[in-house]
Amino acid sequence: MEAALLKPNEKSSQAFRLKCREWLLENCPQEMRDGKTGSEGRCWGGKKWQFESKSQKQWLNKCIEKGWTVPTWPEEFGGAGMSALNADILKEEMSSLGIRAPLYSYGISMLGPALLKYGTKQQKLKHLPPIARGEIRWCQGYSEPNAGSDLAALKTKCIDAGNDWLVSGQKVWTSNADESDWIFAMVRTNTEVKKHEGISFILMDLADEAITVRPIELISGKSVFCEVFFDDVKVPKYYGPDNPSMVGSLGQGWEVGMYLLTHERGSLGGYTLNGRGYELPIVETTINQVGLNGSNKLNDPVARVNLSVALIDDAASTALAELLDSQSNSGIEIGSQSSIVKYASTQIIKRGYELRVAVSDLEDLKLGEDGQPRTMASNWLYSRAYTILGGTSEIQLNIIAKRLLNLPSK
Ligand SMILES: Cc1cc2nc3c(=O)[nH]c(=O)nc-3n(C[C@H](O)[C@H](O)[C@H](O)COP(=O)(O)OP(=O)(O)OC[C@H]3O[C@@H](n4cnc5c(N)ncnc54)[C@H](O)[C@@H]3O)c2cc1C
Repeated sequence: MEAALLKPNEKSSQAFRLKCREWLLENCPQEMRDGKTGSEGRCWGGKKWQFESKSQKQWLNKCIEKGWTVPTWPEEFGGAGMSALNADILKEEMSSLGIRAPLYSYGISMLGPALLKYGTKQQKLKHLPPIARGEIRWCQGYSEPNAGSDLAALKTKCIDAGNDWLVSGQKVWTSNADESDWIFAMVRTNTEVKKHEGISFILMDLADEAITVRPIELISGKSVFCEVFFDDVKVPKYYGPDNPSMVGSLGQGWEVGMYLLTHERGSLGGYTLNGRGYELPIVETTINQVGLNGSNKLNDPVARVNLSVALIDDAASTALAELLDSQSNSGIEIGSQSSIVKYASTQIIKRGYELRVAVSDLEDLKLGEDGQPRTMASNWLYSRAYTILGGTSEIQLNIIAKRLLNLPSK
C-alpha cells in the first residue's frame, strides 16, 4: 500500500510493523526462526526447565528485556505495556517470519489475566514478573476425582488455622505438575453455603513437603497428567504485606476461577486442521497419500469432499478465534463466547487427525521401535484430549445453548 494513502493510525501501525520486523530480524537467533510456531519446540520456563539450546535461552532473554514475553502487560509487571493492536502486529510479524514465541506458560495464558483483574498490587508484583521472565512455572489445580464437568462439586478442603490455611484433598489431571513450581487451585472453604459460594482460589508453592505430585501414564505414552495430593498443607495466609495467598476474597474463588477459564478457553482457539505442527500440513499429507488425478484434483472423491469441508470449517473457526482474540486484547470481555472458540477449534484439530488416519497406511499406526506410538498415531490419540481439557465439548455446548442462545434448560 502507498504510504501517502494510509490514515494516520494505519501509518503508525505500519511504522510499528517495520520496527518490529527490524528488531526481530536483528535479535531473533536463526535457530528460533524454524517455523515451529505450533506446540513443538516450546519453551515453558520454570526452575526445572532445561533449555533445548543456547538459542532458545538467548531468545527468551532478548524478549524478557523488551517485555515481549507478555507484551500487553504493564511494564512494572514485566510486560511492554503494548496496545492490543500492536501486540497483534507483533504476533503477525513473528508468525510470518516463522519465529517461535519465546515463552509459553499457564502463568501467561491463565493465571496472569486473573491476577491482573483480581490481584492486589503486591500479589501482582510478587507473581507476575517471575511469570514474565519464565522463572516460575504454574500448574492448574481444578479437577478432582469427583469434580470435572461438575467442578463446583470440588472437595479439597481449606480451613482457617490462624495465620495459615490448612489444605487437604486431591487434584487430578493436573497437567505438568511434576515440572511446575507453583499451583493455583480452587478449594472448598465453606460447606454451609451453596456449592459455588463456598469456593476460594489459592496459590501454593509445590515445594511444600506436604504436597505430593504423582505422574500418570496414558494410552498415548508418557502423559502430561499428574495427581496432586495435599496432606494438611500449611499455606500462609499472607506471603508478605498486601500479598495474600488467596486471589480475590474468601468465597470468591468460583468467580476468579471462571474468569481464568474464559482465558484458557479463548487461548485454545489456536488449534487448527494442521494439528500440532509436528507433521506436514494436512493438504500436503493428503496429496502425498492419495495422489492427484489428471485435472490436479485429489484422486479420491471422498477424501476431496471431507478435506474441503474441513478446510472451510477451519478457516471459519480461525477467523472467529482471531476476532475474539483481538477483542479480548482490546479489553472487551469475551466471556462465554470463548466456549464457541474452544468447541470449534478442538473439534477441528480432532477432525484433522481423523482425516490423516483415513488416508494413512497402517504402518503409521503401528508402535515404533521404542514401543511407543509413532508421532502421527500419538497425536491422533492425543487429539481427543483437546475436546476434554478446559471443559468438555458437551459442557461448551451447554454454555453456548444457555448463556449465548438463551435456550431453556429443558
Ligand atoms: C489433556 C488434558 C489436560 C488437562 N489438564 C488439566 C489441568 O491442568 N488441571 C485441571 O484441573 N484439569 C485438567 N484436565 C481435566 C479436565 O478439565 C477434565 O477432564 C474435564 O473437565 C472433564 O471432567 P472429567 O474428566 O471428570 O469428566 P466428567 O465430568 O466425568 O465427564 C464425563 C463425560 O460426561 C459428559 N458430561 C458431564 N456432565 C455433562 C453435562 N452436564 N451435560 C452433558 N454432558 C456431560 C462429559 O462431556 C464427558 O463426556 C485436563 C484434561 C485433559 C484431557
